[in-house]
Amino acid sequence: MQEQTIGGVDLQYYIVCKRKLWLYRKGIGMEDESDRVMQGKVLHETAYPRLTDREILIDDAFKIDAIEGEYIREVKLSSKMTKADRMQMLYYLYQLSLRDVHKKGLISYTKERTTEEIELTQKDEQEVRSLIAAVHETIVLQKPPAVKKVPYCKSCAYYGFCFSMEVDEDDA
Ligand code: SF4
Repeated sequence: MQEQTIGGVDLQYYIVCKRKLWLYRKGIGMEDESDRVMQGKVLHETAYPRLTDREILIDDAFKIDAIEGEYIREVKLSSKMTKADRMQMLYYLYQLSLRDVHKKGLISYTKERTTEEIELTQKDEQEVRSLIAAVHETIVLQKPPAVKKVPYCKSCAYYGFCFSMEVDEDDA
């Protein structure tokens, strides 16, 4: 079987919800309809106007928001998913290090107006490799992982898909 390309977004989704990862990788396209996803796209397209190295596609494998000196930069709407965002950044740093490019990361959260610095350690590299393996195991499953309600569900593009049979407690 051919190895499927795994990207930073896959790692992020795996941490948020394995089912979301599976649905996304199967091309089930609710993502396009989500306001939150649309906001994120606009944010990525308009962030860092003063930098020329923006929206950089590396080896047709993954795209980073911007490069500024020794840093690569990512911008996020809010800090609700810091672990997932951190792993996504570590994935980029790891992939760049495999290409002998050694950078640090900065994640800026627009809502909180904070910026987090991320540095790739050997322990992080091991964690990234383990996560890539776990992502791969999830996306080759024949069926999606079961619905598991998490706080993020109501912001998720697949909410209607996952919970269409459920009466909203707020509306009951
Ligand atoms: S709605 Fe919840 S269970 Fe469904 S994919 Fe999104 S996060 Fe996962």
